[in-house]
Amino acid sequence: MPEETRETPAAPDTSVDDRAGKCHYRFHDKFICDRPTKPGQDLCVCHRMERTPEEEEEFLAEVEKVMDDGKKNAVYAAYDLRGFRFPKEFLHFLDEKLPGHVFLQDAVFKGDLLFDGTEITGDLWLQDTRVDGQCSFFKTTIGGDAWILSTSISSKANFLNTVFGGMASFADMTVHGSTSFQGAHFNAATSFVKVSFGYGVEFHSATLPPGGTFRDITVSPGRGESLYRFAKQVCQNMGEYREAGDWHVKERRDAWYTKRAKCAVDTLNFLRHYRWLRWLARRRIALFVAHVRAWPEAFVLDGIFGYGERPRQVGAAALVIIFTWTLYYRIAGAVYDTATSRAADIWGCLYFSLVTFTTLGFGDLRPLPVSAYRLMAGFEAVAGAFLMAAFLVTLARRWGRG
Ligand SMILES: [Zn+2]
Repeated sequence: MPEETRETPAAPDTSVDDRAGKCHYRFHDKFICDRPTKPGQDLCVCHRMERTPEEEEEFLAEVEKVMDDGKKNAVYAAYDLRGFRFPKEFLHFLDEKLPGHVFLQDAVFKGDLLFDGTEITGDLWLQDTRVDGQCSFFKTTIGGDAWILSTSISSKANFLNTVFGGMASFADMTVHGSTSFQGAHFNAATSFVKVSFGYGVEFHSATLPPGGTFRDITVSPGRGESLYRFAKQVCQNMGEYREAGDWHVKERRDAWYTKRAKCAVDTLNFLRHYRWLRWLARRRIALFVAHVRAWPEAFVLDGIFGYGERPRQVGAAALVIIFTWTLYYRIAGAVYDTATSRAADIWGCLYFSLVTFTTLGFGDLRPLPVSAYRLMAGFEAVAGAFLMAAFLVTLARRWGRG
């Protein structure tokens, strides 16, 4: 039935009647396009995905008109390009001076979106925007706020030396290539929420914003160190040390991941130099060996010490060692009481384990004169000394900062 009413010219539906011959494009029911359409078409030349070469010319002329009109409006200069479908070769915004706001919500760029060297004095809006190529804001100045929401970029995103004069909000953004914020200036609060950097992201020598939010950010492993460090520094600036600590752990883990990969490559290269060891490299045994080189660090620094941020983890490791050794002493019958010369019971073993772990060593209970028992007790004392020191350090780090 609705199909029929649309075809009849005198349709009872008034909204369709009013807008006969006009573009049907809508954005979030707020923005309605008033451009005329050609007979048999629902959408104007700007909002149509497919265009003939002549229509492509018309489209470019229309963009030109929007930009010129935008500049002329002295009170509220704005360039309304919402929902525009830009062709692959579009290079309009390079090195322009755009006084006012730029609206690019729901726009589709079949090629690249290039704003290199452009000066926007107002806000920049990219919402539900799709870029099939790369996105570049190299040396772009955004005087107002930058809203990059639900934007998807199929290739690289380049914010090299971009100046964000106002707030910079990145939410629900997906970049499939690598992203760079190198040397970017963040002058106001900056937030990254639910952002996925498919390849990696670099914040080297970007200025720290006075505040910000960093949440639910996905980066491929081994490529997020720079982002984590940046997030950590922002949190530290704001005095949110607990959050900063969590970013610190992430940063260290990512650095370890990179180191592990480097370890593997180094080992492989070393083995390739020696003909008689080459088969090791070929059989991936070398990779295993290389990983083994990096694992102790992960076990001690991450698993136990929590990179100095997890006092509870250190405490738990201490308890595990004390109880495991208690059981070992009891099962092996390794400890005897010097007063009664009898093997200690489970409580005696727990007591001995505690005294050994804390390196007190009263000497009322002793291990039997068997090398294995003595070595195990000695090892517990070493582990105890290390874990007690680690516990103090992590506790001081967490509490000392507030
Ligand atoms: Zn339209």
